[in-house]
Amino acid sequence: MNGRGSSTGLPDTPTVAANASSRGSLEWISAELGQLASMHLERRMYLIEGVDGPYVSLDGRRLLLAASNDYLGLRTDGRVVEAAKEAVEVWGAGSGASPLVSGYTDLHAQLEAALAEFKGKEDCVVFSSGYLANLGTITSLVSKGDVVFSDELNHASIIDGCRLSGAEIRIFRHRDYDHLDELARKGGFRRGLVVTDSVFSMDGDVADLGALVQVAQRYGLMTMIDEAHATGVVGDSGRGLAHLQGVSDEIDVIMGTLSKALGSQGGFVAGSSELIRWLRNRARGFIYDTAAGPAAIGAALRAVEIVRSEEWRRQRIRSLRNSVVETLRAGGLPMPELAAGIVPVVVGEAEDALAAQKLLADNGVFAPAIRPPSVPPGTARIRLTLTAAFGEREETVLLGAVARVAEAWRDRSQELGPDPLG
Ligand SMILES: *Cc1c(COP(=O)(O)O)cnc(C)c1O
Repeated sequence: MNGRGSSTGLPDTPTVAANASSRGSLEWISAELGQLASMHLERRMYLIEGVDGPYVSLDGRRLLLAASNDYLGLRTDGRVVEAAKEAVEVWGAGSGASPLVSGYTDLHAQLEAALAEFKGKEDCVVFSSGYLANLGTITSLVSKGDVVFSDELNHASIIDGCRLSGAEIRIFRHRDYDHLDELARKGGFRRGLVVTDSVFSMDGDVADLGALVQVAQRYGLMTMIDEAHATGVVGDSGRGLAHLQGVSDEIDVIMGTLSKALGSQGGFVAGSSELIRWLRNRARGFIYDTAAGPAAIGAALRAVEIVRSEEWRRQRIRSLRNSVVETLRAGGLPMPELAAGIVPVVVGEAEDALAAQKLLADNGVFAPAIRPPSVPPGTARIRLTLTAAFGEREETVLLGAVARVAEAWRDRSQELGPDPLG
């Protein structure tokens, strides 16, 4: 383990403890906060004062929200809201206990069956969040003596699951499956698990699951993907990237969340019956956590049906993404190939991202700066998310604001030289 909590800790060194308390034991926090603020890295909460379709009230202004993961606009869809209300009326406001005790209802069972079928797997287990689904699953599959292979841009919940598992972590370069092969070839493990986001949460690009599966099969690795941003958005009927790339059967563990395109709250894992049986017995984030509430489950169940049948919502995202990317490219910003509802506008330093956030808000759009440690240093950005809830008017507002950011960034990059990020 690391140095913290070792024999030099407070109980053995009373003089240090006395000094610390006379200065105020939490005084170090002021120093750390001061440091964060001076580096433009202190976070603040943005208080949403009201919601009106795709608009929010914030700081007394009505702004188009381009920073929600509600990609299909289902969070405020009348049918989904109605299903949540009905579930509460039948089952109550909370689920009352963990799933293994008495919190697992017929509604939970119906949702698990619907998600298993949607993902083309035998069974599914629902967690109260996607974060816990990743933590609980990874720690159930690998431990000391095992190795977990993780893409360097994986979501924090995957990183935390890897760390908590006690397995050795080998990080491969972003979407570089030759590097994965190199790391797996070293061997030296009992079990191996390779885990990746399918759509990357801060970049909007996608994994090449076919390439990943080939390496996994070569070394007998278990495969796990996080479809948080792909479920409902990518692939035929919104089934996700594994389905789109034709490798659903080769991916052992398909994780997703109810909190994004499904407009609700919670997480899930789909896989073989035995995998799910194992997770129900081993995943601490499932066992020791109160089952997701009826409102969330009822809403998600209705949302899955809508997601499958309303293809126009995915087409709308695609068309919005193409327009935004074109606008940014026309403005001189280099843009990668994108496949879902996320458009990153990488501006570099935290301060630049805050300036871009302000410029967007001055033009009617809210999308907060994303700064380290959420993204690597030097790649602070605006992360725009697109939703099927944007109509023609919203598209016009969004493209206008985006064009202003591209213009400002171009002026700035000319000041800094041709390739400030290179
Ligand atoms: C949001 C997200 C999660 C966590 O899901 P929650 O339901 O919000 O806890 C996990 N993985 C990825 C890639 C995410 O973007």
